[in-house]
Amino acid sequence: MTTEELRQSLLMAPKNGYTRLDETKRKEMEDYSRRYMAFMDACKTEREATAWAVEKAESLGYKPFTPGMAVNPGDKFYYNNRDKAIALAVIGKLPLSQGANICAAHVDSPRLDIKPNPLYEDAEIAYLKTHYYGGIKKYQWPTIPLALHGLVCRKDGAKVTVTIGEDDSDPVLMVSDLLPHLSADQMKKTLAEGITGEQLNVILGTRPLDGEGSDLVKLNIMKLLNEKYSLIESDFLSAELTVVPAGKCREVGLDRSLISAYGHDDRVCAFAELDALFAIETPDKTAVCILADKEEIGSVGISGMQSHYFEHFMGGLCDAQGVKLEDCFAASFCLSADVSNAFDPNWPETCDRRNNSMLNYGVAICKYTGSRGKGGASDASAEAMGHVRTTLEENGVIWQIATLGKVDQGGGGTVAAYMANRNIVTVDAGVPVLSMHAPLELVSKLDCYETMLACKAIYLA
Ligand code: MN
Ligand code: MN
Repeated sequence: MTTEELRQSLLMAPKNGYTRLDETKRKEMEDYSRRYMAFMDACKTEREATAWAVEKAESLGYKPFTPGMAVNPGDKFYYNNRDKAIALAVIGKLPLSQGANICAAHVDSPRLDIKPNPLYEDAEIAYLKTHYYGGIKKYQWPTIPLALHGLVCRKDGAKVTVTIGEDDSDPVLMVSDLLPHLSADQMKKTLAEGITGEQLNVILGTRPLDGEGSDLVKLNIMKLLNEKYSLIESDFLSAELTVVPAGKCREVGLDRSLISAYGHDDRVCAFAELDALFAIETPDKTAVCILADKEEIGSVGISGMQSHYFEHFMGGLCDAQGVKLEDCFAASFCLSADVSNAFDPNWPETCDRRNNSMLNYGVAICKYTGSRGKGGASDASAEAMGHVRTTLEENGVIWQIATLGKVDQGGGGTVAAYMANRNIVTVDAGVPVLSMHAPLELVSKLDCYETMLACKAIYLA
């Protein structure tokens, strides 16, 4: 063999995914991107994503599952976990004792949650107090247009959905920052301290009502909320309101190759799973799609991936087939579909280039996450990686390997560990993201499309 032949046959040579994308696939990728962007414009919270999934699933013949129902090949079910998370299944030809092929993503994203007693007036400006949710860089949130989303359970028992700041005719909300002229002290602080959590107060208004008192601006805001939603101040005590970046997603770059949006992490994988699931007919093994809540704060609580609701759903399916849930889990496979950090040449020192995902190199497969000595990681076995590698290669999916940054730099986790704790073989995979956890994140259309193809390949494996 010549040296060149040896090089070709022995060494890896990763290539930009565009070198492998023919015209048909490029068109499919653009169609997929349009569907994804419409989903993102409609869904900025876990509740909105769950509602979207329920509505779409119903239109495709999925039925809400309750224990005791018959479960036969080709049946399509969903389990709505209190409007905050959802699991969907297409029942396979094989019994559940042969296991399920699962894709698990999350639909919550970092944001500013409203405190239980949030409304106040200071210097004749009305504000909402917030408590940030998930890992944000606080300095990124002032001076950008913000929207209020959520649900209020009113004193009269009614549930009211609130959305302010998304319609073009709506006002937006905003957090202020200090002018540079007076920032001598602020500029000496670290980025972590420049804006504090208690300074992330959202401006609601400045126009006072006529009359006497120190609460005329606040009172006017409450009057407006009452006119639109019939709210009184104490209704905030039974509310779940959150502040997110206002506006729609946009194509980015003169070549329109990227998409900017709030909350790609992890709705970009959630949509990939859903779109793939909705495209398949009866698979061999049962295909399960999970959209979980609370990943950004540790997958805890009733709607997080550690919740027993998943056992309740899968156990019900197994009972109908006379299968033990433990046997089903032991034979199952899970793709923990979550984003990875795309290599950013502005900060090359934070990553190991040889092991970091790159934009446009396809879905990023992550053997382990965790931080500082793999702490907290679900470390996939050679066999599990081999299964994913073979499945993706056989289906022509463009994929790459990923790790989260340099060994001593930091790290993170996903729902993978909680799936693996259930005795389910699990591998992490997802879309590389630039500016992860920023108010607006960037992904490449190619990587989004290939992640959908990867989910489809796993469902059908
Ligand atoms: Mn994530
Ligand atoms: Mn995240």
